Amino acid sequence: MDVAAQWAGGALTIDLSAIAANYRHLTEIVTRGGAKTVCGAAIKADAYGLGAARVAPVLEEAGCRRFFVAHLSEGAALRNTISRAVPIFVLHGPPPGTSEDLLEAGLTPVLNSPEQLEEWRVLARKRGKALPAAIQLDSGMARFGLTADTIATLAETPDSYTGIDPVLVMSHLACADTPEHPANTAQLDAFRHLSALLPAAPRSLSASSGIFLGPDWHFDLARPGAALYGINPTPGQPNPMTPVVRLQARVIQTRIIPEGQSVGYGALFVARRPTRVALLGIGYGDGFHRSTSNRGCAVLPSHPDIRLPIIGRVSMDSLAIDITDLGDIPVPPGTPLDLIGPHNTLEEAADAAGTIGYELLTDLGGRYHRSYV
Ligand SMILES: *Cc1c(COP(=O)(O)O)cnc(C)c1O
Repeated sequence: MDVAAQWAGGALTIDLSAIAANYRHLTEIVTRGGAKTVCGAAIKADAYGLGAARVAPVLEEAGCRRFFVAHLSEGAALRNTISRAVPIFVLHGPPPGTSEDLLEAGLTPVLNSPEQLEEWRVLARKRGKALPAAIQLDSGMARFGLTADTIATLAETPDSYTGIDPVLVMSHLACADTPEHPANTAQLDAFRHLSALLPAAPRSLSASSGIFLGPDWHFDLARPGAALYGINPTPGQPNPMTPVVRLQARVIQTRIIPEGQSVGYGALFVARRPTRVALLGIGYGDGFHRSTSNRGCAVLPSHPDIRLPIIGRVSMDSLAIDITDLGDIPVPPGTPLDLIGPHNTLEEAADAAGTIGYELLTDLGGRYHRSYV
């Protein structure tokens, strides 16, 4: 933590080289045995809260040539951070009446519905040429994409895809983080069957967890997000990815409270022994969830084996830590503690908050001192 970090309540350190290493690791997995699969990257939600404008060029440098955002606004903001020739796909497609804007912004839509197909066809007619687009089909998640019924109807209707230059046919898995779930093979079969009824194009089915289901799920392009950012794509198994994020906060003050003394709003924690308490300047206003009250822990980096429990309610700007188990180890004001670090992982912190790494990362707000290494 550098000195400027003291101005903020907490410091977020984002390891860009770890993101590049994760990209290379995933590429290595999908190209095993000489497979021609390539890896793209989901950089929606500001690259899961880590700063897409910093992350996208690093991924391009690592070899990534396909990027995915959710919204037209996200794509437009990122267009100039990577080469113009590298497509940025807008997963939600063009909002009604915005096809022209999307095209002008240099973005490629994912067409999810008959209405979106029609928007793109109309624009192509106006421009007098076929326009590149990805087509998404619903292989069983019932979220985005053309349904089996729609695909069958379109296949019998002339000119359904006239003016659309299909650069990708894609779908998304609902249960890829649970390898034994029957939906994985059901969606694989549906994807094979339905994609054959669409115009021929490279195919993409898997995000992070799907990559670990095996080569049958890889097709031409994988679209990882979470795994690039260090989130475990194989929950319940050791994390194959390199950690990317460290979240630290400095101790503001410490006190010793007697047995029976409560701590924080609602007197939610009551000391059962004389307790040494440290206050940190991070709270739910920083996206450190209030559901972590009386759950989760911090770690003093020099003593990683000692878990220091979060006690009492998480406030908007602060939380309290029980540091009694550090004994006589001095903890002066300014001492940095890890809330996410090498010894207390993102998964643990998310688990304590009753959520997943995805939500914790995307919620980490704008108040932290951020440094990229
Ligand atoms: C978010 C998203 C991804 C990336 O998912 P991860 O689980 O983060 O790897 C890929 N494809 C689509 C359609 C998505 O919405």
